[in-house]
Amino acid sequence: MAIESTVESPKSKVPFGTFDFGLSTVDTQPRVALERALEGTPLTRQEAYHLIRASAAEVPALLLAASILRERGKGRVATYSRKVFLPLTNLCRDRCGYCTFARPPGHPDAHTMAPDEVLAVARAGQAQGCKEALFSLGEKPEERHALARAQLRRLGYPSTVVYLAAMCELVYRETGLLPHVNCGVLTRDELLQLREVCASMGLMLESASERLLLPGQAHYGCPGKVPALRLETLATAGELGIACTSGLLIGIGETPEERVDALFALRELHERWGNVQEVIVQNFRAKPDTRMRAWSEPSVLDMLRTIAVARLVLGADQNLQAPPNLAPDAYQVYLFAGINDWGGVSPVTRDHINPEHAWPMIDELRAVTAEAGFELRERLCLYPEYVAQPRFVRGRLRGRIEALVDERGMVREEETRW
Ligand code: SF4
Repeated sequence: MAIESTVESPKSKVPFGTFDFGLSTVDTQPRVALERALEGTPLTRQEAYHLIRASAAEVPALLLAASILRERGKGRVATYSRKVFLPLTNLCRDRCGYCTFARPPGHPDAHTMAPDEVLAVARAGQAQGCKEALFSLGEKPEERHALARAQLRRLGYPSTVVYLAAMCELVYRETGLLPHVNCGVLTRDELLQLREVCASMGLMLESASERLLLPGQAHYGCPGKVPALRLETLATAGELGIACTSGLLIGIGETPEERVDALFALRELHERWGNVQEVIVQNFRAKPDTRMRAWSEPSVLDMLRTIAVARLVLGADQNLQAPPNLAPDAYQVYLFAGINDWGGVSPVTRDHINPEHAWPMIDELRAVTAEAGFELRERLCLYPEYVAQPRFVRGRLRGRIEALVDERGMVREEETRW
């Protein structure tokens, strides 16, 4: 197979295209798909359906093509965002079968952060050189729980989203940390409120499959996990000039083809609105105290295939992330499947979504990244390409953002030393 590339191996400086890499074992149809992808034509849905089930003989070609495409768009740089994690409330209206973050009222760990607590954690992050305040919380808990309604009354806010907007404002005003919020499906009015106080937003599509809402499935009992609603929120955010991160959670009962459908839904959304700044491929982990504790987890190979297909579907320029903390012994190889980002890394708080998998510290991440031949660079929660687009930068955040970034939109070197 003649995958031609200008990319050079960092040590030998020998062009990859000089070698066959044993790719002659790949059948004609997928080989043509990979060659077209490398010429700049993203995969068709049928091609992606085939490659997401790539055979052992096809996997090396798939990974190589995805790597070459990543290098064309992103070079050999892997980014991360230095964040502090603010789990505003772990009450939630949804009941995802894999979740250990949400807690029901009455559970000893159920908790909603008060404003002084929010500020204390944010200040600890500021002291450690964080730039991002990641607000992650259960979705509209007041729709299901009387306790959430009572807490909001006590705090003096009509809804969780209004409280969230006030906490974003408080944290930005007091610390200069840039708010990034993960709070589920939102209406247009809610997006408008948050837009003024957030640098960016996160909303995982997770899956495009409505099947997962049926009894016994991962999203049963989750009104916020209807794929069409999540896509609608992302589209409205795009219309309003809000940069969003989204992505897939793989291994929660979807078929490989349904993964491809989710990637195409995100690709189409981005083609229409241009606001999907990052796509995450996250692997399901089975956790002891959940409904899905006995489900099998995706293998590393499954992750690699999905990441590579995501790169080939989404193209050279999309930012593609896979979380290192959910595969602490294997994440380095994701770099060879087409990712260019590690997501948020916190030097202060543990990741509350997956508390049993502590984030690798930044020095370790740098070493692992360098060993694979890549440079680790810090970015803001708003990606470099978006920093340069006025419609994605809110007026009141603009000065702070501009002060933090260099001419490439990455965090200035002097701001990264802590
Ligand atoms: S929406 Fe998020 S917080 Fe709520 S149950 Fe699902 S995964 Fe947990």
